[in-house]
Amino acid sequence: MAPYVAREWGPRATDLMWRIKELADPDFILGPGVVLNRDPGVHLRNLKSTPEIEATATKCIECGFCEPVCPSRNTTTTPRQRIVVRREMVRQPPSSPLLAVLLEQYEHDGIQTCAADGICSSSCPVGIDTGTLIKELRRRERTPREEAAGLRLAQRYEAVERVARGGLRAGHLAASVLGQRAVAEIPAAVRRCVSTDLVPTWPASMPPAAPGRLPDTSRDGTAAVYLPACINRIFGNPGALASHPTLPEALVAVSARGGLPLWIPGDAAGHCCATPWSSKGYARGQAYMARRTAAALWRWSDGGALPVMIDASSCAHGNRTCEIGLEHETGRPYASFVLLLEELTRR
Ligand code: SF4
Ligand code: SF4
Repeated sequence: MAPYVAREWGPRATDLMWRIKELADPDFILGPGVVLNRDPGVHLRNLKSTPEIEATATKCIECGFCEPVCPSRNTTTTPRQRIVVRREMVRQPPSSPLLAVLLEQYEHDGIQTCAADGICSSSCPVGIDTGTLIKELRRRERTPREEAAGLRLAQRYEAVERVARGGLRAGHLAASVLGQRAVAEIPAAVRRCVSTDLVPTWPASMPPAAPGRLPDTSRDGTAAVYLPACINRIFGNPGALASHPTLPEALVAVSARGGLPLWIPGDAAGHCCATPWSSKGYARGQAYMARRTAAALWRWSDGGALPVMIDASSCAHGNRTCEIGLEHETGRPYASFVLLLEELTRR
């Protein structure tokens, strides 16, 4: 922009800027030549290349609008930095020592610490979701064995939910007998021996298990299909709250009082938006779960006649944006009949 500053601001304001610059930074140490520059051809030299990277992020103009919203911005990298480093990798020849260092450091600073929540896309002028780029890079890292394990988990998700609730119950029971610190030490020891990625910690704030049974509801006269998110089928109310009503119980009661009764299908367990798989790059598990849930939602909603409500916005978003769905069967995007909670409330 340097050659255009005078044209934009006029000679008086530009002269004023130069005088301030010369007073405050007489040796031109700060941003030398970046905005104030007397060379009229500066914009034609030292051009930065933008090599092509993955299609999802290759249009990035490196404006940085996405940076303030990124949850990892103060931990490792911002979305813009993830893309800039990716470009630098592409610029490097295969034998480059710099490339080796970037690849090594990018694993933690770029890939592992991205929440893959896609919130960066909300402020990007060209609509880039850096989380999608990172999910693509994670998918490339998955081995066939890991993919098979991810698929098995998806195929047995109802059992996984039961085991998770059982683990929560057992953990809380043990904590009440042995104490929180002793119970926390068990997963900590397993994490040290096995993997800090695969084995969760047991924090003092660990919520209790959700009840095994979802509230009884009726299909007759229902205003919407209600699919409680798997996280709300596994975790109950936080410890500081009474254990009842749970979120599904409260939502069913409030909706009925508001004249919009909800129906929870009897076979809701085991269905999920597939985000746990997509965000970690497990393509086979994601495809299986997305198709399974899409088919169930289609069936439960009578082919889209009833709206569908999900009680976690991240899961509703996962369903609405999932590219794997029922387009082939229905001829219209599956996401079009999934409504967010607010949308239902407005009706
Ligand atoms: S807001 Fe979009 S275009 Fe700007 S740096 Fe971020 S990803 Fe790139
Ligand atoms: S998806 Fe990744 S890069 Fe984008 S805002 Fe979330 S953590 Fe940041």
